[in-house]
Amino acid sequence: MSRRIAEIRLHPISVPLERAFWMSLEPYRVAAEIVVEVETDDGLVGVGQIHGRPQPEIVRILEAFSPSLVGEDPADHERIWDTLFRSTFSRGIARFEAADGQPHFGAGSKPQLMAAIAGIDIALWDVKARAAGLPLYKLLGACRSTVACYASGGYYGADGEADLEGLVAEMAGYAALGFAAVKMKVGGLSLAEDVARVRAVREALPEVRIMLDANSAYDVPSAIEAAQAFEPLGIHWFEEPVAWFDPVVGLGRVAAHTSVSLASGERELHRFGCRDLVDHSGIRYLQFDATRAGGITEWLRCAAYAGAHGVLMAPHHDPQIHGHLVAAVPNGYVLEVFPNPVRDPLWSELFVEQPPVVGGELVLGEAPGLGVTLNRDTLARYAAGATR
Ligand SMILES: [Mg+2]
Repeated sequence: MSRRIAEIRLHPISVPLERAFWMSLEPYRVAAEIVVEVETDDGLVGVGQIHGRPQPEIVRILEAFSPSLVGEDPADHERIWDTLFRSTFSRGIARFEAADGQPHFGAGSKPQLMAAIAGIDIALWDVKARAAGLPLYKLLGACRSTVACYASGGYYGADGEADLEGLVAEMAGYAALGFAAVKMKVGGLSLAEDVARVRAVREALPEVRIMLDANSAYDVPSAIEAAQAFEPLGIHWFEEPVAWFDPVVGLGRVAAHTSVSLASGERELHRFGCRDLVDHSGIRYLQFDATRAGGITEWLRCAAYAGAHGVLMAPHHDPQIHGHLVAAVPNGYVLEVFPNPVRDPLWSELFVEQPPVVGGELVLGEAPGLGVTLNRDTLARYAAGATR
């Protein structure tokens, strides 16, 4: 007798950070996730996580999805995924769009719909792996049991300033922890000031790989100028250099004018967007985030397409989930970790035991499923009212 989905529980959590972390164009002030628990009629509990926002909108969609999922076989996750996805291009969409939404005129809830699908899909994969008694990366056919991580940080100061001294100290701290690669922000100050920041890190840490993340700061000519200015500093990758309005073909123009490898994809919603990035943007690294959109099912599709085109997977955020995926696919490359607990308090507090990162490598264990146990105190302490 097959098992059935009995209950879906939602835990939106939100933590105001102790300080603002400025990226190129805006500060990061709040860490937030929606934890999705799917419980089966025989007592298995799968855990999904959603990194998207605004949370109330995603929760509203999840609450609309949930009744139709109760009674389904959790092993049928491809069919469930397809049913939910089809609701985004059928008349069923009408019940999800916010009041007065006019999707054809720029409103609508597509990112939030894809985020809701992500949370359910990840929880179903966790159920599947737990039912099989295997860690998820093993269920998927492990290529490796440890995954190289890079330390992500290097924000501007709390007021958006260069903060050279703090930057170099932070990056040196990551290197001392054993990270062979670090990432820092660029694109928020003049190019000369940003070059000075990158040079300071390069000179302090000559052996460490440096990734630069512009968080969509530049138009195409400025991105080309920046890439060429960073080239002599030995940059490992240049991430999301191009602004929101031209992130595919425009990025391809940047690729044609620099020897620096490009990374992008953290804001893509599905395999079609990833296909276009792989085909037309010249990226070397695809950063599709399973917790923001589409879940593990869609991530694996994107990884397969990328693999067929020589593109490596370097997913954005949430290493406790993405670690299993990078470990499982042959073109899995590297994992993003935020070692600073002030920047990412959920990484250090959401689980009873934080997945071990030893010498800059995530070590995947033998525990079934995602292998993490939620810290109930953290869920209660950071329960979100209405984070936006
Ligand atoms: Mg990024």
